[in-house]
Amino acid sequence: MSKKLVSIIANNYLVHFNENGIKALNTHLKEAKYSNIFIIVDTYTNELCLPKFLPNLETDLTIEIIEFEPGEHNKNIETCIQIWNVLTELGGDRKSLIINLGGGVVTDLGGFVASTFKRGVDFINIPTTLLSMVDASVGGKTGVDLGNLKNQIGVINVPKMVLIDSQYLDTLPKNEMRSGLAEMLKHGLIFDKGYWEKFLDMKILDFIDFDELIYRSVEIKNEIVIQDPTEKNIRKALNFGHTLGHAIESYFLENENKKTLLHGEAIAVGMILESYISLHKNLINELEYFQIKNTLKSIYDDIIFEDEDIEPILELLIHDKKNEYGNIQFALIEGIGKIKINQSVENELILNAFLDYKS
Ligand code: NAD
Repeated sequence: MSKKLVSIIANNYLVHFNENGIKALNTHLKEAKYSNIFIIVDTYTNELCLPKFLPNLETDLTIEIIEFEPGEHNKNIETCIQIWNVLTELGGDRKSLIINLGGGVVTDLGGFVASTFKRGVDFINIPTTLLSMVDASVGGKTGVDLGNLKNQIGVINVPKMVLIDSQYLDTLPKNEMRSGLAEMLKHGLIFDKGYWEKFLDMKILDFIDFDELIYRSVEIKNEIVIQDPTEKNIRKALNFGHTLGHAIESYFLENENKKTLLHGEAIAVGMILESYISLHKNLINELEYFQIKNTLKSIYDDIIFEDEDIEPILELLIHDKKNEYGNIQFALIEGIGKIKINQSVENELILNAFLDYKS
């Protein structure tokens, strides 16, 4: 294992990498006096990831597996109710441990279930998608969607530990890999120009070093989150591409005539649109803008927007959690690798961004 992949110290917990993770978990299980263990999975992670994880777990405690149907449309309070009921029926108590083994849907929902069951039990995240490794499993945001509104219900509560093991990626479909890549690109754009530049030519990107790229992304996210865990300030930087990206994701999720977008696919469009806005607010120059637009367009398929789609997408911005006092706030980039938060943007500029994306 690379020397660099030492565990990362987060806000009251550690993020462990590859074989260090299971060792840390087994040690923790010996020390903490849990009454039983519940592993929350979705259908696919039950089939593909649990067999890689379970044989390495050293414990005499009872282990119960709780499975739910995969997908964003199940990240809701109804699924939580079912899981709270199962936990109750199977003897879950305040000393139970919940392990979330899955993508961002499992870690977001499982973290929320654990944070609220009996006023909070310990939980551990084991992310199995690229997106959840570099983003969702780290930072303490947990929650579920309310109807088509993304992540409207939730709490910030940190896991006991996070175990990142890239062996789970072996079974992850390519489009899901691309989805996770969007958050890695974002980390470069908002924080580290040199890191962004590693992705400029995807054809020569060295996937042998992928573990190191995942590691750098977690470092960047963590560095931002520990300065501002509750998103009063600099954590808003992580919302670059997400203000419009979330509205687009919600719109496509609720609209039967549209294909459902993966989170990262929506965020990639959001980053192009918000880079256009950054350009027109004189925060980046044309060269930077076209580098961002061309790089993202070379990785992600174009999303088709009809004229009548734009207005309802803008209306969804009103529900964005980042709004304060009714004002829509953007995190924009100020040159590649730097961010400017709390930026108001007039509707006309947002409309122009969509027109430019379509052109
Ligand atoms: P996901 O959890 O739905 O996983 C995507 C698909 O991959 C699912 O079908 C899943 O079953 C499957 N899968 C998971 N691991 C696999 C594996 N190893 N092999 C094969 N298939 C596998 O989605 P995601 O992209 O991981 O996460 C998206 C969610 O994360 C969104 O709900 C988003 O809001 C949330 N998110 C949260 C944060 C946060 O800070 N909490 C940050 C970013 C995103």
